[in-house]
Amino acid sequence: MRTKYMKDVKRIVVKVGSSSLTNQNGLINIFQLESLVKQVAELHNKGYEIVLVSSGAIAAGMGKLNLTSRPTEMPLLQATAAVGQVALIHMYQKFFSEYGITVAQLLLTRDGLEDEKRLFHAKNASKSLIENGVIQIVNENDAVAVDEIAFGDNDTLSAMVAEIVEADLLILLSDIDGLYTKNPMLNSDAEWIKEVDEITDEIKALAGMSATGLGTGGMITKISAAQIAVSAGVHMIIANSATPWILKRITDGELVGTLFKRSE
Ligand code: ADP
Repeated sequence: MRTKYMKDVKRIVVKVGSSSLTNQNGLINIFQLESLVKQVAELHNKGYEIVLVSSGAIAAGMGKLNLTSRPTEMPLLQATAAVGQVALIHMYQKFFSEYGITVAQLLLTRDGLEDEKRLFHAKNASKSLIENGVIQIVNENDAVAVDEIAFGDNDTLSAMVAEIVEADLLILLSDIDGLYTKNPMLNSDAEWIKEVDEITDEIKALAGMSATGLGTGGMITKISAAQIAVSAGVHMIIANSATPWILKRITDGELVGTLFKRSE
């Protein structure tokens, strides 16, 4: 069990990756989205303060624009993200409202977080939402942050958010049970790593690129996120979104996912 790491956890940033929210055809997986909302609502009702960092805007936009594949041309990709972001938030709002929970949308850009004044404002807004019991749904502002949709990911963003809101735990929900010794999609002898005490060069070397082609980050960006999180005093867990009641299992201290321990 991991109870000792979970007992003082109250504020949690949950990041859900594209591979968890998207079907094989690239469109939004509504079942997964609804299951995520149900789990977050359950934790919210237990008194946890949850911030959600959600990918999926492009997938939602593809559905709205009747696109069968992810656009490659940048202006269309930006437009798809802009259309999809509202559609995604609409779905979140609909599902969360069933549990009486109010949501807010926070769109951030990485350069915005590097500017001291803008960072200060983002921090204030975010903390005020938490204090008012609102679940904020954070995403990169894909329509304008072109570099991000071209090369980026929400892993690093979620680690920055965890640092900003002074979270106790960052959970990265993906399509895999955690960090393995090799990419398990390509190597059947890959072994699951239960916990990481220190992010060494060996740990970094374990991360290959995404095999699904759906996610943009793979393990490389998850390890970078872990570096930000643990040095900011935030534990991080990579876990599988497809595992039933995964968020409850994590907060109950079950041995699921890979734990990156925060620096003391
Ligand atoms: P997400 O969209 O959830 O962020 P990604 O597809 O970007 O997810 O990243 C998860 C993928 O990373 C896994 O499905 C797997 O193919 C790949 N991967 C590469 N190396 C590893 C490793 N050492 N351990 C686990 N997964 C790995």
